[in-house]
Amino acid sequence: MTGLLLLAFASAGAPIPALPPGLRNLWRDGTVVSRGRRSVVVGHHTGAATLGELARRADTAGTRVSDVLGEPVTPLVVVPASTAEAARLAGVGRLDGLAAVADGGRVIVVPEFFAALNSVGKDVVLAHELTHVAAGTGGLPVWLYEGFADYVGYRDAGLPVRTAAAELAAEVRAGRLPSALPGPAAFAADGRDPARLARAYQEAWLACRFLADRFGEGTLVRLYRDARAAGVDQALAAQGLSVDSLTARWRAYVRDQLG
Ligand SMILES: [Zn+2]
Repeated sequence: MTGLLLLAFASAGAPIPALPPGLRNLWRDGTVVSRGRRSVVVGHHTGAATLGELARRADTAGTRVSDVLGEPVTPLVVVPASTAEAARLAGVGRLDGLAAVADGGRVIVVPEFFAALNSVGKDVVLAHELTHVAAGTGGLPVWLYEGFADYVGYRDAGLPVRTAAAELAAEVRAGRLPSALPGPAAFAADGRDPARLARAYQEAWLACRFLADRFGEGTLVRLYRDARAAGVDQALAAQGLSVDSLTARWRAYVRDQLG
């Protein structure tokens, strides 16, 4: 069950004692709160049905992330009234094309783009962003934190790999294998090459999926935590890998999975 609560403020910026930090004092009016079993969702002029659905999905995402990380996860989700408001909250200029972002310990939903996703896509996006929040990203190469978030996001989604990695599969079938793990330039969300951006996520996802398939999910999670603490080179070395040897094995895995 989820509870819905409409909050009226006597004065602008009044604190909401029951809300965790990061969800307080977001807006002067129109704040609506929905609580799931483990999640808290705060919306701005958001309909009750939308917010209740998000609380249920945030609960599902929390369970999925918790299952992989082996620790409790409490999703905090913010639903602004518009894409522009989401961008302001996240402190970025534009959010075009993104359905949600991780920011400051919470997931910010971008309402227009999130609403355009199907049910599976919504759950994948929430689990992906919640993974960033729960596992952290600092000190890691982008392929590792985006790939890990997609690993968690797609783990229970029930999609065939060729469907979830459709853009990369088309490249592989055309005889073009990626030569290197995707770097920051491949993840530039500037709208110039959406297919390249999609492939960057798929390449990163399959690198983490390879590590889980070959060494076990527990090893992938350990490697991620080791990389956060000591750097990716040392974390890979603990598994007898280097970036070069991982790259070679990842390329063979991509060809095998998508060719
Ligand atoms: Zn991400």
